[in-house]
Amino acid sequence: MLIFKSEDTNLEIILDNPLLKNILEECSKFKDLETGGILIGAYFDNRAIVSEIIGPPADSIHEPCDFYRGTAGLNELLDEKWKQGEFLVGEWHYHPNNSPEPSPIDDATMHEFSQDEKLNCHEIIQIIAGGNESMGWEFSVHLYMNNQKFKFKQQN
Ligand SMILES: [Zn+2]
Repeated sequence: MLIFKSEDTNLEIILDNPLLKNILEECSKFKDLETGGILIGAYFDNRAIVSEIIGPPADSIHEPCDFYRGTAGLNELLDEKWKQGEFLVGEWHYHPNNSPEPSPIDDATMHEFSQDEKLNCHEIIQIIAGGNESMGWEFSVHLYMNNQKFKFKQQN
């Protein structure tokens, strides 16, 4: 398990070990285009456990500096997960050959999601992968809640 903590909250984000590898496999498929998807998991007290990453829905749009995550099939998938006690807990995407830090648009989108009553996901995790296979991969992990943004760092 990978444990991520933030200095400004007592929340922990726990990632199952293979998840970052799964994200990199997805990124490798799209090479110089952005890609992404959603994070599935659950909250237990002060812990967010991310248990699965879902790749881009079929109606997503991949561009060199932009990614529009589609929604095809997501409702059905989330209904299935809900029966197992799992939910949408966040989003991930890839900045090819670039920094994994969120852009101003990324921040605005996540703040919007965390306040969307329909999504009912008031704490939203954003994982961004950057770099590439030859220059090396990098990750950032942030949590958006109450219109605030918290940076998480890996502890182990
Ligand atoms: Zn981005």
